[in-house]
Amino acid sequence: MHVRDLPLPDEVVSHYEARGIETLYPPQVAAVEAGVADGSRLVAALPTASGKTLVAELAMLTAGGPGLYIVPLRALAREKYETFAALPGVSVGISTGDYDSAAEDLGEHDVVVATSEKVDSAIRNGASWVSELASVVVDEVHLLGAEGRGPTLEVTLANLQRRAPGVQIVALSATVDNPEDIADWLDAELVRTRWRPVDLRTGVYADGTVEFDDGGTLAVDVRAGASGADGAHGADAVDAVDADGGGLPESADADTEATVALVADAVANGGQCLAFVRSRREAESLAERLALDGFGSAPGVADEIEGLDGTVTGRRLADCVRSGVAFHHAGLRSDHRAAVETGFRERRLAVICATPTLAAGVNVPARRVVIRDQKRYTGSEMAFLPVLEVHQMCGRAGRPGLDPYGEAVLVGDERTKPELVERYVRADPEAVESKLADRTALRTHVLSIVATGFADSFGGVLDVLGATFYAHQTPEGDLSGIVAEVVDELVDMGMITTDRSLAATDLGAQVSKQYVTPESGAHIVDGLRTAARMDRPTELTALEIVCGSPDMQDTYLGNRERAAIYQFARTRSAEFTTDMGDAADFERWLETVKTARILLEWCEGQTIESIVETYRIGPGDLESRIERAEWLLGAAEALADLLDVSFPALSAARAHL
Ligand code: ADP
Repeated sequence: MHVRDLPLPDEVVSHYEARGIETLYPPQVAAVEAGVADGSRLVAALPTASGKTLVAELAMLTAGGPGLYIVPLRALAREKYETFAALPGVSVGISTGDYDSAAEDLGEHDVVVATSEKVDSAIRNGASWVSELASVVVDEVHLLGAEGRGPTLEVTLANLQRRAPGVQIVALSATVDNPEDIADWLDAELVRTRWRPVDLRTGVYADGTVEFDDGGTLAVDVRAGASGADGAHGADAVDAVDADGGGLPESADADTEATVALVADAVANGGQCLAFVRSRREAESLAERLALDGFGSAPGVADEIEGLDGTVTGRRLADCVRSGVAFHHAGLRSDHRAAVETGFRERRLAVICATPTLAAGVNVPARRVVIRDQKRYTGSEMAFLPVLEVHQMCGRAGRPGLDPYGEAVLVGDERTKPELVERYVRADPEAVESKLADRTALRTHVLSIVATGFADSFGGVLDVLGATFYAHQTPEGDLSGIVAEVVDELVDMGMITTDRSLAATDLGAQVSKQYVTPESGAHIVDGLRTAARMDRPTELTALEIVCGSPDMQDTYLGNRERAAIYQFARTRSAEFTTDMGDAADFERWLETVKTARILLEWCEGQTIESIVETYRIGPGDLESRIERAEWLLGAAEALADLLDVSFPALSAARAHL
């Protein structure tokens, strides 16, 4: 099937042809046959790089009305926005920030790209464009199984169908065990294939050899720092380390050196490599280890990175990039991450060392993917990564048009190899399971169902929840018990009343519109009431209130800095809404004080360089806390208005952020 055969305007066909898309890939043919260009609903469970974007565009371009493309992450929103904006004659809007608005102007576009939270928020705020949608595409729909995000996505999809009955839904999924469950729920056709444009082979490294699932092997001479695939490369790398006088860094271990050799081999053969490790620190130290060997150089990318800020992290990243190697994790500021992704896509960088989050997000295909760590610290123990996550990392291997095949290698040893083969090479990914039956998630969604007027009775709430993936998956799983408890909790919090019918109070309605959780709303209201009784609440008071809410991320407080934060808390105690002696959880409150102090310094004009150095947080952590604080201070302003509390420092803090 040719692109010319599709019901698309000539200029769109030419646009595809100019990008080398003339004949459809087999999964795309299957999607057309399933009716994606005729308004049919579709779940496409396909491997990475099998052409899902075209399937999405076909739906949105042929649906005869506005389209919505829902992404799980903001980083992905930007990438998709740019892709769609390049389509001739298509006007595209993007919506990722500002939770508390209906964003009515989005209705002017042919296609809107938004995160699921933003769509949820737009529905809560009564955005009229939602009911005019002709098509909705959901990217990474398997995230229905993720805690927090998953419940938001399924409730949003249920509500979208309520607001726009009959809307065409196209859900794009990684290969999971039960895509038919998602298709049944959405009343959609299912296209499911393992076809990839570039073959992928997956293997496990142990004791000098990789054994692949296609029967092939690769000898890797780890001591020499390179593979023996053709025996011709890698020696330079070791010389460079020795010439440097440093030898191997102290942290070097067998897995790391095997990873270094696997990376060197791929790069020497003209490939690019992604190396996955368990933590941010590991990503940085592996990148620095690889940079000792040198894998080319990318001065332009390094200058760009250094030009963005002078933080220690930025300088370390730029130094690595000068040797062709980057690291990538959530502690980096978003424009550093974007520079790394672009540099890699443009083949100016040979290697990225990343935490697993990279695999779930942006499009960075490589010749070889090396997964050094398959376990991650979960807060209490080291646990194996989910199969789905590892498969998504593996799926990044193989650049269409550049690589004869992609290779994914899990680094193990003779002892761990059988388990790695069983667990990740042979096994299927997990099934997607709803996480909606969670009290915190339900509290938020029950409030929003009542506040938006989707239901005004207990039975009505259950009816709305009856359209969720949870209800579809567990018909026998009766939510009524837990929903009754949640309703009681919301009544106690002053967010809803049950007098005659179920209704949101003004407070509940505002909390829902501001897109804060009921717990954060209640926390902020308590803080505002205390502040109203204080002589002169300051910006620090405002920041303490929002930083203590559950919607703000925790900030790690190390032993070394604890005394300084304690001292600060004592000195400024008159400005806090919490009395030091009364804090229910003192250690957590000290963490709140730390976050508030960081943001206060930012408001007062301290540089990012000095803040990240003083408080030992990543530049990306500072960035995300500033964004959250802006949103939460905005919510606090709206709640202060409602309570008639005058608190000028609140607005001042928001303006200074
Ligand atoms: P996915 O979203 O499934 O990971 P993409 O839609 O991003 O994959 O497609 C991966 C790459 O394949 C893109 O560079 C895209 O331009 C290209 N591509 C998609 N469909 C075709 C096709 N039919 N012929 C040639 N290239 C294609």
